[in-house]
Amino acid sequence: MTGRVIDGKAFASDVRARVGSAVERLKNEHGITPGLAVVLVGDDPASEVYVRNKGVATREAGMTSLEFKMPDDMSEAALLAQVRALNDDPAVHGILVQFPLPGHIDRSLVIAAIDPAKDVDGLHPVNAGRLMAGLNGLVPCTPLGCLMLIKDSLGDLSGKRALVLGRSALVGKPLALLLLGENCTVTMAHSRTVDVAGEFRRADILVAAVGRPHFVKGDWIKPGALVIDVGINRVPAPEKGAGKTRLVGDVDFAAARDVAGAITPVPGGVGPMTIACLLLNTLHAACMQAGVEIPYV
Ligand code: NAP
Repeated sequence: MTGRVIDGKAFASDVRARVGSAVERLKNEHGITPGLAVVLVGDDPASEVYVRNKGVATREAGMTSLEFKMPDDMSEAALLAQVRALNDDPAVHGILVQFPLPGHIDRSLVIAAIDPAKDVDGLHPVNAGRLMAGLNGLVPCTPLGCLMLIKDSLGDLSGKRALVLGRSALVGKPLALLLLGENCTVTMAHSRTVDVAGEFRRADILVAAVGRPHFVKGDWIKPGALVIDVGINRVPAPEKGAGKTRLVGDVDFAAARDVAGAITPVPGGVGPMTIACLLLNTLHAACMQAGVEIPYV
């Protein structure tokens, strides 16, 4: 069997187009233009690229993009003050502080300072609690994107066995809760799991979010399973020339594809969905703040 390769780029492009249409309706029918503020502290080149891409995507969806580039030596107090100012700004519906932050700034304090209604990263403890309680709230973008891809591939997830490898607050834990909400039987694996391969072999839905290149082997995969590879790992690519690198996932793609029913590639799988879901969350936040139904279809 050769598994279907899921085109995350095409799926994300469709989501972005639908968000764009919804934004148009929100402007025309309610006079609201969703605004996303992204705060970048320091000059990490990878973060600068992410922030630039987010800005482009936000504007393409018809939203307002506000970018705040702060110096590396900015104090924690000044960053918290900046976040509070954005909380109070009615033109800003979503706030994203780009991570990682410089070492002298406590990331958890920054997350807690964001108004939960504007927390488009879905990391605020109030939003994490809402997800836990099964209440409506803002959900982290990457797990939300994974769930959309999974539902698109499999439809009703009731009764499916899902294995989530990785238990971060950003990916693994929220995705496990989302899958539980879809009535999957969910197992979480992590660095202390005794037999990760054995756990994999029983699952219909496999999600790898571990941050280790090609960690998941082809013979771990149940024939026909759906494989979602969240990992983004940069590895040397001597075939492209001296000093060159390329991105690979957490799954040994070539081997896994021979066994899986469907699989996301890296790049071009989950990654594009993260930005699409950031736009969706900003739209959702703007609608919630205005008390209007989200016009996303
Ligand atoms: P993280 O916070 O470092 O968490 C990694 C998880 O993997 C931890 O739960 C850890 O277990 C587990 N782990 C590490 N080594 C293991 C081992 N040998 N066996 C079993 N489990 C092991 O990472 P993250 O933020 O969730 O990100 C995971 C990957 O997804 C990274 O490659 C990241 O770049 C990528 N990512 C991609 C997107 C996207 O848009 N596509 C977004 C976010 C993240 P313990 O908890 O026991 O330490």
